[in-house]
Amino acid sequence: MRIANLSGRLVLLVDGLAVDVEKASDGRFAADPQAVYERWEEFRQWAEQAHLPEGIPVEPARLGAPAPAPRQIVAAGLNYRDHAAESGFALPDTMPPVFTKFATSITGPVSEVCLPPGGHTDWEVELVVVIGTRAHRVPAESAWDHVAGLTAGQDISERITQLEGPSPQFSLGKSFPGFAPIGPCLVTPDALDDPDDLGLRCTVNGEEVQKSRTSNLIFSVPELVARLSSVIPLLPGDVVFTGTPAGVGLGRAPQRWLAPGDELVSTIEGIGELRQRFVAQA
Ligand code: ZN
Repeated sequence: MRIANLSGRLVLLVDGLAVDVEKASDGRFAADPQAVYERWEEFRQWAEQAHLPEGIPVEPARLGAPAPAPRQIVAAGLNYRDHAAESGFALPDTMPPVFTKFATSITGPVSEVCLPPGGHTDWEVELVVVIGTRAHRVPAESAWDHVAGLTAGQDISERITQLEGPSPQFSLGKSFPGFAPIGPCLVTPDALDDPDDLGLRCTVNGEEVQKSRTSNLIFSVPELVARLSSVIPLLPGDVVFTGTPAGVGLGRAPQRWLAPGDELVSTIEGIGELRQRFVAQA
């Protein structure tokens, strides 16, 4: 199953066409895309057997984030070996470094992003998990059962704010407005050939800068959910950024940052793409 946020309304995607959930369910499920996760199991069962009307075509620019207002956004750092190496950090052994991206940084999949003046703004393509049912102290073996689905994300990062000062400011440097685009849709794990092995890549102005597979994650999706949930309960609709592979601007020689006019396209196999254009702050 695939769901999306079309102009602020929850839709089911059927053969690429959007079916409005509130209308198709006669009001049983609300139009608010964030509300569905509170009743995820009930929704999934309804969607599996519902007789749906014909959908309408989707313009990507009208898509919002599939989880636009989560209570918690949790992001893992250093979760690919090659990215930890290019960043000059040791590998995590029991828990990756964890930070948040504040909720005001979330946008839909197609957007214009203002570059903070004087900043060093960088890209990080990431698989993003949205939680379906509350997960607290769950083992990895059953962690997938708590996942509503997967989407694509960009953990856009301003490296000066992130790294300056007496201790790094990961959360702040990664939370400027528009720094957390996610989408274009949410795909349930059963709709993917292998949800533990998805190709992900991103390009800047057409040039490929990152390319990997999620099978290279140090902490796989179920391992990450299990370990995070050993400390914090993960709530329905929460968003988890799983980490980025090598190829970020910070790790290049010479280092490279996003500039006004650049276009960043991020793709995850079986899910879809994000498209960000960067502009100077007026
Ligand atoms: Zn990241």
